[in-house]
Amino acid sequence: MEYEDDLNQQGSTTKYDCLLFDLDDTLYPYSSGIAGHITSNIQEYMSQKLGVDQSKVVDMCYVLYKYYGTTLAGLRAIGYHFDYDDYHGFVHGTLPYELLKPDPVLRNLLLSFPIRKVVFTNSDKAHTYEVLGRLGLEDCFDGIICFETLNTAHRSTVSQAEITKNTSDCRDSVSSMISGSEIFDIMEYSRQSNHGSTLPKTPIVCKPFEEAFEKTFKIAEINPHRTLFFDDSVRNLLTSAQMGLHTVLVGKSERPKGVDFALECIHNIKEAFPELLEAEDKSKNTRYSQEVAIETSVIA
Ligand SMILES: [Mg+2]
Repeated sequence: MEYEDDLNQQGSTTKYDCLLFDLDDTLYPYSSGIAGHITSNIQEYMSQKLGVDQSKVVDMCYVLYKYYGTTLAGLRAIGYHFDYDDYHGFVHGTLPYELLKPDPVLRNLLLSFPIRKVVFTNSDKAHTYEVLGRLGLEDCFDGIICFETLNTAHRSTVSQAEITKNTSDCRDSVSSMISGSEIFDIMEYSRQSNHGSTLPKTPIVCKPFEEAFEKTFKIAEINPHRTLFFDDSVRNLLTSAQMGLHTVLVGKSERPKGVDFALECIHNIKEAFPELLEAEDKSKNTRYSQEVAIETSVIA
């Protein structure tokens, strides 16, 4: 593990009072193969359900992910209207979840830390619970922040409120979406070096954007300055660092610039942060009061 020099020198056993975890490719390894199936299903959805030209699907999927954090967020931004549950059902409905095996090592580790633990994922509720159940981790967390938590309105069409919000924020580019069937040409936009047009805004709240972190801090009552955030995405971690979180890249042994720590495997968490086991006595009282709060406020 690599780490910032100043951390251990501070030596406080109460430096952290919350552990925030991404789900996919963080609580289980990328090598499980699930990620590849998810990408493949997203591309299939774009082709089958939204009529995207088969020859453009792979590049468009990547470009949307790059600009908007998730392909779903990007598809909505550029003008596709679809039901979120339909999308999630298609993308996750046929996943080979049997690839995910119970992880008693991680389970014991998580349960041994006397500190709040929260999942923060862009994935939907059904997928999140399926994954946690397969890993045997369903009772290891005090709260779950997922797609439905941050996107409470399930709509397949653009509402008047959304139109008003988007037009005031981004008047020119969204006007074509409102009129009906026109789709913003994201591939043309990505090819422009000077980006002559304005990138449409998405109505979706998701990592890596600050709004998702702000909402999560509020809902789960998280103090970012006292929270360790584990994610396999450097992009998510860089935003979260700006928001005050202590950042841990999972799945890589080398720490990128701007990230505090790197763990090759989530199983290394105890060796990397031995102070988490020592926090019990000092945090016990506040821990339980926080659990009560989160159980009633986090809606996943
Ligand atoms: Mg991930």
